[in-house]
Amino acid sequence: MILRRLLFVAAVPLLAAWPGWPQSAHPALAYTVSFPHPEAHFLHVTMRAEGLKGELQDFKLPAWSPGYYHILDYAKFIQHFGAEDAAGHALPWERTTKNTWRVVAGNSPVIVLSYDVAATSPFGVQNFVNETRAYLSPAGVYMHPAAILGQPVTATFQLPSGWQRIASGLDPVPGRTNTFTASDYDVLYDCPTLIGNQETIEFAVSGRPHAVVLENVAPAVSRPKMLADLKLMVEAATRLIGDIPYRHYTFLMMGTGNGGIEHLNSASISFNGKSLESPEGYLRWLSYVAHEYFHNFNVKRIRPIALGPFDYDAENLTSMLWVSEGLSVYYQDLLLVRSGLMTRDQYLEKMQGAIAKFENAAGHHYQSATDSSLDTWSTNNAMTGDRNATISYYDNGAMLGAMLDLKIRTLSENRKSLDDVMRALYQRFYQQKKRGFTDAEFRHECEAAAGGDLSEVFDYAATTKDVDYTRYFALAGLTLDIKSEDAPGAWIGLDTQKRGTQLFVVSAAPGSPAESAGLRPGDEITSVVGNVQAIATVLAAGKPGDTLKLKISRGGAAQEVEVALAKNFKRSYRFQLRADASTLQADILKSWLRNESGRP
Ligand SMILES: [Zn+2]
Repeated sequence: MILRRLLFVAAVPLLAAWPGWPQSAHPALAYTVSFPHPEAHFLHVTMRAEGLKGELQDFKLPAWSPGYYHILDYAKFIQHFGAEDAAGHALPWERTTKNTWRVVAGNSPVIVLSYDVAATSPFGVQNFVNETRAYLSPAGVYMHPAAILGQPVTATFQLPSGWQRIASGLDPVPGRTNTFTASDYDVLYDCPTLIGNQETIEFAVSGRPHAVVLENVAPAVSRPKMLADLKLMVEAATRLIGDIPYRHYTFLMMGTGNGGIEHLNSASISFNGKSLESPEGYLRWLSYVAHEYFHNFNVKRIRPIALGPFDYDAENLTSMLWVSEGLSVYYQDLLLVRSGLMTRDQYLEKMQGAIAKFENAAGHHYQSATDSSLDTWSTNNAMTGDRNATISYYDNGAMLGAMLDLKIRTLSENRKSLDDVMRALYQRFYQQKKRGFTDAEFRHECEAAAGGDLSEVFDYAATTKDVDYTRYFALAGLTLDIKSEDAPGAWIGLDTQKRGTQLFVVSAAPGSPAESAGLRPGDEITSVVGNVQAIATVLAAGKPGDTLKLKISRGGAAQEVEVALAKNFKRSYRFQLRADASTLQADILKSWLRNESGRP
């Protein structure tokens, strides 16, 4: 499906350069969105397409939204679809796929579509309308002519009386009330729009306006402080990359619930506005906003090759979300440390908590970061998956980011860091090549910055191997004290890996019941056929003394193995400064967790 875009991109310059080709060869595409009955929770869309040539015209709605890796089937929310020509004569149409409406246009120079969109779900990638506000998730609103994604479009909003604000990343069209433009559908589909009477406050960085649209923040929370802190965070991020890629940026701070979606020059951020009243809640919020903001670089512009140009009809699989999401988690807090908004101790406390969460959930024995990324479009995914059988590439990616960064700093004698990798990816791929990077190109940039081999970290990302945190954090002059205490359930010390529908043993921990039972790396576990959940469930409900029976295949020979369940334990992790840190280690800690803001 990416081919579709490539063909189109290649075709346009040819057509545009063709002598005498009339200007009208480029269709004019204009949407009008209105809210005739906001209390009935739907919005009405008309689309006027002028200059489309052909007997039949297909119009499509995406199946998913950039930033949220799940099929959402927006087409199911469409009601009362109709098509007309310029004179208002109805044009016949039929639904040819789940998300395609085929109009018998008969070469009509103008086609006007009209439809309603049910808007009942207050969530960042769904549409919602009520008496006081509307939130538009654009992939679920604007149908596009099939194979035409590279054309500019306009959107005009007709507001219910009393509604005054329209906030989004779209560019206003000068001289036209409530009308906005996007240079193509990729931009349009990445500009959610919040409409109503929201409070709007602003700050500027290098002359670029940043709007902060507030729907839900308690009055007691200081607005000047919010603006000052967000500005410090944005400045830390743009200093890191060395560029601001947008003309304006909009933070949509909304509703209740929990969920942020990053976009090209905006972010939709849902949270409980009252939580900002406590210092801990406020810091958590800043970290969450920094995550979504940093995505404007990491994933929107610094991106794996699979994540753009998008196929809007189907899943876009990549094994690199541990980089796009995980490194955004890594940088969200580093940006706050650099801004003087989070202390070094707070940072290290958060990191040790993340390690404990990851290590104490059984999922890390069964799923690697790269597998978690590939599996994210399924239901058992990085965000909501059962942690007995899956991991989160968010938490794990952040730890991998720290290990990459510390190793790059060490190998380069603290002359380079992960910042250099991010900058190089931004310049080389986003600015120069105008494409995403492959897995190998990402690794190459990391190893180029390090000036050495980083295979161990990439191995950690691609397998369920036990991670030697102690050795990595020692590179920054830190010790990591690990304590074990009893925990519910049972333990066997087995690491496995899914390959297709097959499940293999990766390792059996030394001295563990899995090792005593004779399980070896490479054994295929055949009794549960790829279902790691089956083992996880037995362990969660089991107690020491119980037995787990497994059928395995070793070199093609079937065997039965009985594993005695042992006591489960939970680990806690605590960083301490090493008294005997070398000069290099001390320097690395200082520059890694530096405060650049000049604030104490
Ligand atoms: Zn994210």
